[in-house]
Amino acid sequence: MPAVLLKPGREKSLLRRHPWIFSGAIQHVEDEPAPGGTVDLLTSNREFLARASYSPTSQIRARVWTFEDEPVDKEFFRKRIRSALGSRRALNVGEDTNATRLIYAESDGIPGLIVDRYGEVLVLQSLTAGSEFWKETLADLLLEETGLPTIYERSDADVRELEGLEPRTGLLRGSISNLQFSILEHGLGYLVNLQHGHKTGSYLDQRENRLRVRELAGDKEVLDCFCYTGGFTVNALAGGARSVLSIDSSAEALALCKENVERNELPVTRHTPLEGDVFQLLRRLRDENRSFDLIILDPPKFAPTAAQAERAARGYKDINLFAFKLLRPGGILVTFSCSGGIDAGLFQKIIAGAALDAGVEAQIVAHLFQGPDHPVSLHFPEGAYLKGLVCYKRAR
Ligand code: SAH
Repeated sequence: MPAVLLKPGREKSLLRRHPWIFSGAIQHVEDEPAPGGTVDLLTSNREFLARASYSPTSQIRARVWTFEDEPVDKEFFRKRIRSALGSRRALNVGEDTNATRLIYAESDGIPGLIVDRYGEVLVLQSLTAGSEFWKETLADLLLEETGLPTIYERSDADVRELEGLEPRTGLLRGSISNLQFSILEHGLGYLVNLQHGHKTGSYLDQRENRLRVRELAGDKEVLDCFCYTGGFTVNALAGGARSVLSIDSSAEALALCKENVERNELPVTRHTPLEGDVFQLLRRLRDENRSFDLIILDPPKFAPTAAQAERAARGYKDINLFAFKLLRPGGILVTFSCSGGIDAGLFQKIIAGAALDAGVEAQIVAHLFQGPDHPVSLHFPEGAYLKGLVCYKRAR
């Protein structure tokens, strides 16, 4: 068995069950394995620590499959998949929707593998050399364990490049007649495109937060920034919003947003889609003395890693500052960050700074999180990427 020997003392994170080994922790590699092949991680004294996949081109050189001395084979992955499916069942995920995440990589003990279920279709994303090495086996197991016939692959995320992998999109198992899919969620429908939509087609992680916005939107004038295909917009209208202004820079996304409002037979007269850059349009709305009762900010990832955190922090502060200004006293800001490089504590500090500079008094009334089908292993805090705050702007 190929082995990776760690430098003395560098086993500490593994002893806390964190699943990553960075290249700098490695002393020596024996019998260099193929990309994605299985290696033993050993202390400098050759004591067994874990069994992992090997990524020769990535700074994250190895990702742990298991901390036990057990074979990593098809039956091993079957157990992991069963356990992931079991947790969704136990938590009643999917009761009120036909689209859920079934496997969330490290959090479910299968680094690199993401599997989302859209009705009868599984959408698979393989992000690491290890998940790529086992992809065909994993695909077979997914069909066996779910009883579903079709897997569509969306391995087109940028991070694959770090693993030396080319992007790949297309059918992996079964057949599919229509790549448009209608998500049903808490009684509303959203058209998404499995081939071109963001991530595996849509933002399943915001499911519970969309419902939250629905509950908050009654009789309010709403501004939905970075609306994409209208997840929050549709919910605000369904919740009885008096008006919703939806901003996105993508014309294509806005067209789907409009279509999603119509599909749900919501009042189109209360909806205004607006194409443009949120950073500029927030300033323009301020110059026009516009104001709102509920503002949603759900921007794209400004900081995928900690290295870009500072620039990202300026971006978050800017949009939140203007949002606070545009909010009426007694208004509510629902603000998110999905940047892995910005943790919940830092995000809260940025929002506090934005309120300070906007000259407003605001209170946090709720912390928001990704849904239970995107769990976070206690040993892998990096899995917690989505954080949100609901802030109430006090009247002075
Ligand atoms: N809120 C959405 C997800 C947002 S994804 C939902 O719940 O489904 C981020 C969106 O921001 C994308 O649609 C992208 O087109 C848009 N976007 C990125 N940068 C932007 C900018 N500077 N101004 C406006 N929209 C932007």
